[in-house]
Amino acid sequence: MKLPATLSNSVINGNGNQSVPSRLSSALSSPMHPNAFVLSDDEKVVLIAEKFAEIMEIMGLDLKDDSLSGTPERVAKMYIHETFQGLNPLNKPDITLFENNYAYGEMLVERNITVHSTCEHHFVPILGVCHVAYFAKGKVVGLSKLNRIVKFYSKRPQVQERLTEQIAAELKRSLQTEDVAVYLDAEHLCVKTRGVEDCSSSTVTSHYSGRFKDPDVRNEFLTAFKG
Ligand SMILES: [Zn+2]
Repeated sequence: MKLPATLSNSVINGNGNQSVPSRLSSALSSPMHPNAFVLSDDEKVVLIAEKFAEIMEIMGLDLKDDSLSGTPERVAKMYIHETFQGLNPLNKPDITLFENNYAYGEMLVERNITVHSTCEHHFVPILGVCHVAYFAKGKVVGLSKLNRIVKFYSKRPQVQERLTEQIAAELKRSLQTEDVAVYLDAEHLCVKTRGVEDCSSSTVTSHYSGRFKDPDVRNEFLTAFKG
């Protein structure tokens, strides 16, 4: 698929006049150009498949081979609909809060939330677990929504520090409280499978705010998953 020259230039240079969807603001600080959503997802799949086929051809691979012929489109669909679906604000989960009818006032911890993200420097996986906690301020949230928040921000090209901050910011906004904690422990395949090829290290990042700045409260959170 070929774009009209004007649109193509504006997309590439980021200097077009297309309006930015208001929900782009929910993308927080992931670096995106102003025309990030001029193209539809379907249009992006077509263009990425074309470009990925070029990369494979440059590498000398025979795209007529039965096993390789479908790879460019497969990769393009995976990027847009799975691996990087969190770039599109339209995929942001709707968070519904419920009245805290049971008057639960203690810490809620959800442990071992799966994190499948992608290192934005090498485009290889970041695999880890995220532990989150909060104190309800009047309202509570369905537990699976915590998983969905973690998943949404994970499904972007990321650095672990930004991912941690984005999850924390979204928890605060959604749960309407500053009393949140995030602890993310992840392996980076760019460290594990290339470069220094260190297979045993993992990286920990965290965010504590509100009541979690109290060392006792923080320790209660840490004990919940560290034992
Ligand atoms: Zn990397």
